[in-house]
Amino acid sequence: MPAADTYRYHGLIIQVAVPSPLRRLFDYLPPANLNVKEDPLVPGMRVRIPFGRRDVVGVVMNLAEGSELEASRLRPVKAILDSQPLFSQGLLNVLRWAARYYHHPAGEVLSAALPVRLRQGEALRQIEEYWQPADDLPAESVQQLQRAPKQLQLLQAVQTAGKLSAAQISALGISSAIRRQLEQKGLLQRIVLSVGAREPFESVAGEGSGDLELSKEQAAAVRAIKKHLNEYSCFLLDGVTGSGKTEVYMRIMAEVLATGKQCLVLIPEIGLTPQTIKRFAERFSCPIAALHSGLNDNERLDAWRAAHDGSAGILIGTRSAVFGNLANPGLIIVDEEHDASFKQQDGFRYSARDLAILRAHEENIPIILGSATPSLETLYNVQRGRYVHLRLRERAGAAVPSNMELIDVANQNLESGFHEAVILRIRKHLERGNQVLVFINRRGFAPLLHCLTCGWVAECEACIAQFTVHSKPGSLRCHHCGAREELPVACPSCASRQLSTVGVGTQQLEKLLSRQFTDFPVLRIDRDSTRSRKRFADMLQQVESGEPCLLLGTQMLAKGHHFPGITLVVVVDADSGLFSADFRGQEQMAQTIVQVAGRAGRAQHAGEVLVQSRHAGHETLQALAQLDYADFAKRLLRDRQTAGMPPFSHLAMLRCEARSTGKGLEFLQQAAERARDLSKVNQWQVDCLGPLPAPMEKRAGRFRCQLLLLANERADLQNLLSRLIAQLEQLRVPAGLRWSLDVDPQDMI
Ligand code: ADP
Ligand code: ZN
Ligand code: ZN
Repeated sequence: MPAADTYRYHGLIIQVAVPSPLRRLFDYLPPANLNVKEDPLVPGMRVRIPFGRRDVVGVVMNLAEGSELEASRLRPVKAILDSQPLFSQGLLNVLRWAARYYHHPAGEVLSAALPVRLRQGEALRQIEEYWQPADDLPAESVQQLQRAPKQLQLLQAVQTAGKLSAAQISALGISSAIRRQLEQKGLLQRIVLSVGAREPFESVAGEGSGDLELSKEQAAAVRAIKKHLNEYSCFLLDGVTGSGKTEVYMRIMAEVLATGKQCLVLIPEIGLTPQTIKRFAERFSCPIAALHSGLNDNERLDAWRAAHDGSAGILIGTRSAVFGNLANPGLIIVDEEHDASFKQQDGFRYSARDLAILRAHEENIPIILGSATPSLETLYNVQRGRYVHLRLRERAGAAVPSNMELIDVANQNLESGFHEAVILRIRKHLERGNQVLVFINRRGFAPLLHCLTCGWVAECEACIAQFTVHSKPGSLRCHHCGAREELPVACPSCASRQLSTVGVGTQQLEKLLSRQFTDFPVLRIDRDSTRSRKRFADMLQQVESGEPCLLLGTQMLAKGHHFPGITLVVVVDADSGLFSADFRGQEQMAQTIVQVAGRAGRAQHAGEVLVQSRHAGHETLQALAQLDYADFAKRLLRDRQTAGMPPFSHLAMLRCEARSTGKGLEFLQQAAERARDLSKVNQWQVDCLGPLPAPMEKRAGRFRCQLLLLANERADLQNLLSRLIAQLEQLRVPAGLRWSLDVDPQDMI
């Protein structure tokens, strides 16, 4: 905020977040007719303002006593759209912080936090007018109307119905003039009702506890959290799939709801909402509001309102639900906190998990992060004593743990994509009437070069990191140091010419499996086949029927669906995760495999997991084969520390997309020079890596390149980014070039 002595205009100024790519607030004069006593104006309300030649909707962020601009350049707000703020103080602080931390324009941050309808300026409450009989209607009044049959008709209709709207009156064939005459005689009165201003939900103590007897570990977790229901505290509920985490959530939710406070539950992106809502609805009688991608604009607005006015006890939703305003927040839960979908991958690139933690802090309420495979960031925060670690080591009820077996496919010609032994095992399970899940790891997939004969992988000797294959021009590049090599013609290790860069795709595998198993249905579940919600629902139903079938899919399958009929999980290729260009590759692969394994053998069936790899001896896989994620994660954390990568350092990525590689690299080269200069002058310790073409060099016809900024101290990185972004905004960029900043990037590809 500018200091008062730089003001050129003195007087009340409204600072507004305007949806625009500019990273600043805009100053406006109050509307001409503003009566501050009667129409309080506070941050968090929407205003309609002139912006350029258009009128737009913005959000009031601050009130100031003056502006750096001269009076002649200031324009007044056209209208104040709300009578109360749409965001609590705590939430508004989170949004302010997010705009600074992610270096994203405040106007776009505030827009992202609102449902489309509110963004467009629709009233929070729809106002409706009704007419009802006057309070003390004189008995003789009806007589008075004998000679005015239309008026009498209306009065009697209103008496019968209790109240009628203008539309209903008009439907009776009665004009508004008649209505006005009755009003003037004092026989009819107008009332204004705002639709959706519902009563707060009613809470019942003890409701929602269910009748299961908690396991010792569950009971201990519940006790630990219950001690902190009225203050900020962050809990990691670390329990294998099926260990009863949801049961623990529900016990705590019951406590919170009983005090009349609301619960915010965040879940990953994919189709889990109906299952979770159903479980909550069976347990709790309070209204539940849901925010997810399957809603239309009206439904979204409705859910948002229910949370905002406090009529819903529970707000459940995916990433953006973290911005849902709650009238009376009491608890936040982030289920599957490790899930990558909590990070927005374009536009305003926020982490919903991280903002949820900040929000709990701002609102001074507890937050529970739940996962069977916690992220390394979260485990590191546990190590540092910032989060409380609660563990559930055993599966609830009678469920049996799975076994994992590594299938060595080095020296195998996998034309069918599968080792013979794997095919046999699949057949065995199907013939016993069970279901099989075949999983393809696509996340973090970047083309790497390996030998189909001996399993050799092209690696940069300086970094011991795998090379990424770039096709134009054909070369190998190291994304750590920038080294470049020619593509070899033959394997340097065994001289075989069977070098391959491509993994097998889902559609290809679907064909292969359908040919192998003609007598069983093959259901492919990936982003393409599930674009239709109905098809996805049909497939899930087929799986739920329990009939033997083969389920083929990607990461989507690892998320929370319960598939009790599955007794065998096959991981087609562990190597793309093992040798990912993404430093999180191994973490993500481990999480996915453990999660997928957790889908198998729920309830009474014992589950088996087969993992194919050309590197079955690899330490990471060996550790994983024990299915002890905690031990495995410790190992990975040590590696990260040695490598100086997050969470032991802080990372930001400047990305650029352009019509030609040269243009993008040139822009990032300028950015890199500025970053290096700024760091030097200010003594900020920030490493500047690149620019380099992105591992996935071309996407949707555009060339992509990236510049990594890595710092041990977060403050150094943040200071640099503020200055650097301000400078980049001033640069002229060639037509068709787009750049963006990603703070704490999840996806490095
Ligand atoms: P998670 O969320 O960790 O995957 P859930 O809470 O969904 O685990 O529990 C898995 C299954 O075990 C559910 O069917 C649930 O009803 C059951 N369950 C949970 N806790 C208990 C318990 N204490 N006793 C018996 N069954 C339980
Ligand atoms: Zn070889
Ligand atoms: Zn290198």
